Amino acid sequence: MLPFVKFGLSLFLLSSLWCALSVTAAPLRRVRPSDATWPSVTEWEKLKKNVGGRLWPVKDPLSACRKNTKSKACFEALSLMKNPFYVQEQPGGTELSGWFKAWDSSLSRYVVEARTTQDVVAAINFARTKNLRLVVKGGAHSYLGQSNAPDSLLLWTKNMNKITLHNAFTPHDCPGKPVPAATIEAGANWLQAYDAITTRGRRYVQGGGCTTVGVAGFIQTGGFGEFSKRWGVASAGLLEAEVVTSDGAVLTTNACTNPDLFWALKGAGASFGVITKVTLQTHALPKYFGSAEMKIKARSDIAFKKLLKEFFIFYRSNLLNPNWGEKIVIRKNNSLEISMLCQSLTKEQMMVIWKPFSEWVQKQSGDLETSSSLTLSVVPAEKWWDYAYLTKTMPQSIKTDQRPKARKKFWWKNSNREVGLYIQGADSLWIPKKFLSGPSLDQLVQALFDASRLSPLELHFNKGLAGASKAVIEAAKKTPLNPVMIDAFALLITSKGEGKVYKNIKEHEPNLVRAQKSAKRVQKAMAVMRTLIPSGGTYNPQADFFGKNWQQRAWGPHYKRLLFLKKRYDPVGLFVGRHYVGSEFWSDDGFTKIQK
Ligand SMILES: Cc1cc2nc3c(=O)[nH]c(=O)nc-3n(C[C@H](O)[C@H](O)[C@H](O)COP(=O)(O)OP(=O)(O)OC[C@H]3O[C@@H](n4cnc5c(N)ncnc54)[C@H](O)[C@@H]3O)c2cc1C
Repeated sequence: MLPFVKFGLSLFLLSSLWCALSVTAAPLRRVRPSDATWPSVTEWEKLKKNVGGRLWPVKDPLSACRKNTKSKACFEALSLMKNPFYVQEQPGGTELSGWFKAWDSSLSRYVVEARTTQDVVAAINFARTKNLRLVVKGGAHSYLGQSNAPDSLLLWTKNMNKITLHNAFTPHDCPGKPVPAATIEAGANWLQAYDAITTRGRRYVQGGGCTTVGVAGFIQTGGFGEFSKRWGVASAGLLEAEVVTSDGAVLTTNACTNPDLFWALKGAGASFGVITKVTLQTHALPKYFGSAEMKIKARSDIAFKKLLKEFFIFYRSNLLNPNWGEKIVIRKNNSLEISMLCQSLTKEQMMVIWKPFSEWVQKQSGDLETSSSLTLSVVPAEKWWDYAYLTKTMPQSIKTDQRPKARKKFWWKNSNREVGLYIQGADSLWIPKKFLSGPSLDQLVQALFDASRLSPLELHFNKGLAGASKAVIEAAKKTPLNPVMIDAFALLITSKGEGKVYKNIKEHEPNLVRAQKSAKRVQKAMAVMRTLIPSGGTYNPQADFFGKNWQQRAWGPHYKRLLFLKKRYDPVGLFVGRHYVGSEFWSDDGFTKIQK
């Protein structure tokens, strides 16, 4: 070949290669309604037909207030939005109204109300082929705002909520001893699950404490409930899940079939596909569940630190075991609020356990005042979630759904704060067990004291597995959660927020000046704690939206493998959201792929 022909050919090849590179280098961007490539009316109609007619534009639950905040319709809408069941029954609703400078509850353009796995497949295929931003919503309880995005297609699973109990379940193609279990469809909330499994089925399943949280949404984060020190991380009880991946394939996952994906679903699931149903192991119910409550206020800073230290010593020797969970709250007015829950113990046993601490507190009457003295109560375990029993015997602990057609729905009073909450700042951190003794305990007490001057601190003892059985710990190791939670005695959570406020609703707007100040205080409080415990990680669903190094904090050494699996199961990045595996390759709004 003549040299100039060769040269010309190389040039041609080079330029076409350059063209190809330029084409691939153009950032991938999901389409918005204003784009020419947004699906046509005919295409939407086709999708609607494929999902049994259940495709709609998303309605704004607060539309009446956007027009006139003084109207009766607005008053009624705001009142309904105080009910978390109502909120999650609206495709456009979110439990939280937003997070300062992070996200504001927003409406997708269209919603597919999935009732079957085939609906999920159709929505995923449509979103992928039409290059749409897809969001998935179950119980609508994401703190990080992952289940809402403007200009997106919403896949809403709320009404996929069938529950089936099994006396003996064996995962598909996975031989082993059959165990009792429950199969729960993606959109069921924990109240529906507990009603079927505990109240009527007389079995225990490890789920979450908040009745309105979605089951699949919870399991895919890992999930800790009141008694996780006894029955483990909720996702460790997952026997099998059906999941639809970004290519529209319906996959059965369990320890033997698609085991990699099964592992990833147990703590990073939303990044990998849409779970359509989960099968969770159930357990024999203990005889009782119980609670121990107390509020103590110290008269001086020194007395408060002494109180904290004494409580932790008591906790270490009496409560750091599979029987006890739940939390304490430490406030800047030097008060300690104790709300512990237990399983399997009688009231007499509880009294013996708490005697040393309660006597110690009494002896300090010069330094401490008990604004609410120790109250111990027990409930037959099968009544723990029983609407009829609770409304009769503990009406002060719950709020009930008052709508005429609402059947037996309640939520705990202590989770009422979150409904319509606008988060100003929040973060979480696992605290290793070593801080319960020796000089580390003094350091912990000092740090908690200092941090609580800035923001109230909650220590959730059930969200760390120190004190759990070997079996529970081994099962937790088979999840992708940051392993620091195994040796942690508690998860520290701090958050500040303003309740029942909504962006762009006059007279009900969040106070942004206050939000700015609170956000700073939360950050400073966590800086104090992270200085003491730099490698304490975080629990992703309750992490700081702006947290640095979030991949490492949430999943620790597992992130590399998760990212590898993300590329395998979702190479097109259909499942993108705040703190999703691989979301560092996408813009914050999840629309544009970033070259890194
Ligand atoms: C009031 C409140 C109490 C909470 N209590 C606890 C607690 O006790 N323990 C604990 O561990 N956590 C708790 N959380 C955190 C909560 O479990 C997580 O935020 C969980 O992801 C919420 O799931 P959801 O379906 O309700 O929310 P959604 O907002 O609907 O979903 C949350 C995330 O899960 C994804 N998702 C939902 N459904 C599916 C599905 N079928 N397949 C794949 N991805 C899906 C969404 O896309 C989103 O990324 C609480 C949160 C709130 C607001």
